[in-house]
Amino acid sequence: MNHMMYMPLMISDAIVHAGRHHGRTEIVTRCVEGGLHRYTYRECERRSRQLASVLGKLDVKFGDRVGTLAWNTYRHLEIYFGTSGSGAVCHTVNPRLHLDQIAYIVNHANDRVVFFDLTFLPLVEQLAQHCPRVEKWVALAERAAMPDSSKLDLLCYEDLMVSVSPISTWPTFDECSPSALCYTSGSTGNPKGVMYTHRSTLLHCYAAAMPDSLNCSAKDVIMPVVPMFHVNAWGFPYIAAMVGAKLVLPGPNNDSESLYALLEEERVTFAAGVPTVWIDMLRYVEDTGAKFSTLSRIVIGGATTPPVLRESCRIAGIHAFPAWGMTETSPVGTCGTLLARHEDLLEDARERVLDKQGRALFGIDMKISAGKGTEQPWDGESCGELMVRGHWVVGEYFGQADTAHESGWFPTGDVATIDADGYLQITDRLKDVIKSGGEWISSIDIENIAASHPGVSMAACVSLPHPKWGERPVVFVVRRPESKVSRDEMLSFYSGRIAKWSIPDDVIFIDAMPINATGKIQKMRLREMLAESGVKAACVD
Ligand code: ADP
Repeated sequence: MNHMMYMPLMISDAIVHAGRHHGRTEIVTRCVEGGLHRYTYRECERRSRQLASVLGKLDVKFGDRVGTLAWNTYRHLEIYFGTSGSGAVCHTVNPRLHLDQIAYIVNHANDRVVFFDLTFLPLVEQLAQHCPRVEKWVALAERAAMPDSSKLDLLCYEDLMVSVSPISTWPTFDECSPSALCYTSGSTGNPKGVMYTHRSTLLHCYAAAMPDSLNCSAKDVIMPVVPMFHVNAWGFPYIAAMVGAKLVLPGPNNDSESLYALLEEERVTFAAGVPTVWIDMLRYVEDTGAKFSTLSRIVIGGATTPPVLRESCRIAGIHAFPAWGMTETSPVGTCGTLLARHEDLLEDARERVLDKQGRALFGIDMKISAGKGTEQPWDGESCGELMVRGHWVVGEYFGQADTAHESGWFPTGDVATIDADGYLQITDRLKDVIKSGGEWISSIDIENIAASHPGVSMAACVSLPHPKWGERPVVFVVRRPESKVSRDEMLSFYSGRIAKWSIPDDVIFIDAMPINATGKIQKMRLREMLAESGVKAACVD
């Protein structure tokens, strides 16, 4: 007996809901072809059904993977809903990866059709030679914008759209069916695919939208700067539809000036991106004297937020809060929001709570491993590898037989503590932790101190092999434009701020940080640069 109705959780329901209950709410895109495109959820829902018909015409079957190499745009959004909604899998590929990695990912996923923005035509022309199983390459453009000549037999998105009528209703099927596929960036070994399902996606978005999570509502105007090719833009395309928020999609222009203009013109209230995006943005507003008139909060994830960045945001009138997650966790696992009893704390103490990565969303469970199956206490001090489990945590990597689990828990590769209130604090990644004389030095602590120096724009710490201590920390620093801060000044800045034995052995000044395809600092490259630089470990006795 069904005591309550059973309706499978379908991604199409999100866009149907938005079309029906928030039909006049806008989706605004800065287009690849230039200019702004503006339409409503009602039109997005209809065009997503039209795309579902196009997929049928292209013979895309249930469960087939459909690749995308695309910016945050309304057409990409239609692909999100049109593919998953019709039972196919939306496989977003990060176009900033190396060609070999992209080819590996497209081939491993067995993408049959790939939709791409015209920006990526040169990439696609090279890629096609390595991906013979891709049957159709579809340019996300109208006929007038199609390139005159191409080595490939390209299809035109808008031509395909006008050639069909929308499917009349969305199909219903098992909620555990695959819906979308993302690969980790594979900083070690080949990229690994995480296949989300309709159920995992909607449960993730329900929880992520809640007040103590991302706190999204129909009153919001949301701009995900995080790309739709990176872990489903942290769920924002689905969440915005579920809550009926206006969605602003910045397309290919991700420089601070363009982003700022769009934030202001479209009256964005809430935006999301990795720390490097906001470091640049805050510098832009400081340099130009520009003010945010509607933006009231931003969520920063993907890497640690230096406290000094949140302080700059506070001065600019924006509440910046952290979220922790990874491709394997859909991605949101924790969000940094305060408890009622923090309200009485002084501002500085409240800010320190938000230096941590926050509390687990309902639906995610976490613990800190003490090794050999035991667990560390939640005292904010005892650290170890963070383990998670939950409705939107990877089960098995796509196309790989072995489970991603250890006794039902997913080992994240992050080193962390959890305090008595359940606040997670990431101290490092296992592969980045600096093991000096049997002690672990947190590279994140060292980076945060350097970043709080007024002459420093960005800092990253890596380990240097040492004959006596095993490893010692060295910090790479990018100075602010007018700053002349010296090595000795930087080293003395650490005195009193960190244990003496944790002070870096050296400071190396560089003009720009090497940034990876998802906007994070490339520590592997820094280690190579360190080896090339010939810096030798100093003897710390
Ligand atoms: P990768 O960086 O491996 O390509 P992800 O984008 O999935 O893949 O990154 C996940 C990792 O990013 C986490 O394991 C963690 O190390 C780091 N991370 C994500 N959010 C935060 C955060 N708020 N604070 C610190 N580290 C974070």
